[in-house]
Amino acid sequence: MLPEMPHLVLLVEDDDQIAAPLIRTLEREGYEVERVDAGLPAVDRVVATGVDLVLLDLGLPDIDGLEVCRRIRAAGYTGGVLILTARGGELDRVVGLDVGADDYLAKPFGLAELLARTRALLRRSAPARAEAPVAVGPTPAPVPSAPAPAPDATDLRVDADARRVWVGATELVVTAKEFDVLALLDSNPGAVFTRERVMDEVWDENWFGSTKTLDTTIGRLRQKLEDSGTSARVVTVRGVGFRLEGGRPDA
Ligand code: CA
Repeated sequence: MLPEMPHLVLLVEDDDQIAAPLIRTLEREGYEVERVDAGLPAVDRVVATGVDLVLLDLGLPDIDGLEVCRRIRAAGYTGGVLILTARGGELDRVVGLDVGADDYLAKPFGLAELLARTRALLRRSAPARAEAPVAVGPTPAPVPSAPAPAPDATDLRVDADARRVWVGATELVVTAKEFDVLALLDSNPGAVFTRERVMDEVWDENWFGSTKTLDTTIGRLRQKLEDSGTSARVVTVRGVGFRLEGGRPDA
């Protein structure tokens, strides 16, 4: 393991009364915290050099939190996004909209709960910042290496340790939750994983939200697989769950 670098959490919250205790709590836990109080600066900040986790309020003075989430995902951000939302109707509406958030926390929430979700998301999205486009001096020239056996352009390879996905020689960019779902299905290709099992393993036991999140995550993953040209498919087994088909050298 490399020496632990503090995780960088970006708090996007326009209300000082809410932001102050969150910042104190997160800093006390050893996180590096930056705060912005509007949506556009949040997008700029994430796109500039990446962060490890975004804690995202929905009601912001310029663009709303959902739009922030859409934009940073569209820009290729793969780190965690935890949306802070009101319980009840708003939560259902928000979860139903597929903006690419990883998790939702209903206000008012306890700080212990916030820290638990934060830890869980950081565990799952640790490589996000390391891969962000941080320019530090000239890029070293690629070292020529022996040509690797050319993978078939449609093969899918899930590297569970590095948390990266490859289709042929091209990396497929996925969010933390998309990765978790895909890695789980890929752990036993062809086998059916029940919805309950996927929910249990990918979302934590404190998850109170709708299982629509599972369906939207699967939907995004499917689209990415399809766009990538792999023959791998996430197949729905009606009334049961999902399985991964194809995408293998021998398939
Ligand atoms: Ca607000």
